[in-house]
Amino acid sequence: MEKKDKIINFEIEYNTNYRNIKYPRLEFRTGKLELILPLKYKNKEKLLEKHSKWIVEKNKLILRALKDSKDKKLEERNEKELRKIVLKYTKKREIRRIFFRKMKSKWASLSSNNNLTVNILLKYLPEELIRYVIFHELTHLKQKRHNEMFWSIISSKFKNYEIKEKDLFIYWFAIQSKKKVTDSGNNRQGTLDKR
Ligand SMILES: [Zn+2]
Repeated sequence: MEKKDKIINFEIEYNTNYRNIKYPRLEFRTGKLELILPLKYKNKEKLLEKHSKWIVEKNKLILRALKDSKDKKLEERNEKELRKIVLKYTKKREIRRIFFRKMKSKWASLSSNNNLTVNILLKYLPEELIRYVIFHELTHLKQKRHNEMFWSIISSKFKNYEIKEKDLFIYWFAIQSKKKVTDSGNNRQGTLDKR
């Protein structure tokens, strides 16, 4: 049995951005829906309709995260202190270089030549969550993809990793709403995006 959700019956605010890109995408980075459309794109309504189910579900998740984010206290750390923590957890690992920068939709990433990029917004998180994010990236040294093997390595160290993932999601919105994050526009991948 399949039930169809129609975006027409669901009110949601969104921004539209036209860019020189090939394919449209939908994002929920800051909590608000953004349509990123190729220049002269005309099928906006169709696009919304096609992804209405995803939009409604994502919106529900985000509203809950925004609500939960009110109870989260952000750490008062500077960048130097964050660097120290990151170095502690990457010691003796085959990381080539570590970059720190503000990213729009990821906590961290590992490049194919083993350079680690860390989102400086991690400085607001409890150390245990920073450790978890770093461990995630270090696990990519062994396993590139988020497959079963990958998650089994993760769960060998963090048995309750689903809670960590959920917390990261909530903290993301806590930072968005409490710190008025402005982005540097250099990253467009992440679990919050529909591509
Ligand atoms: Zn990953």
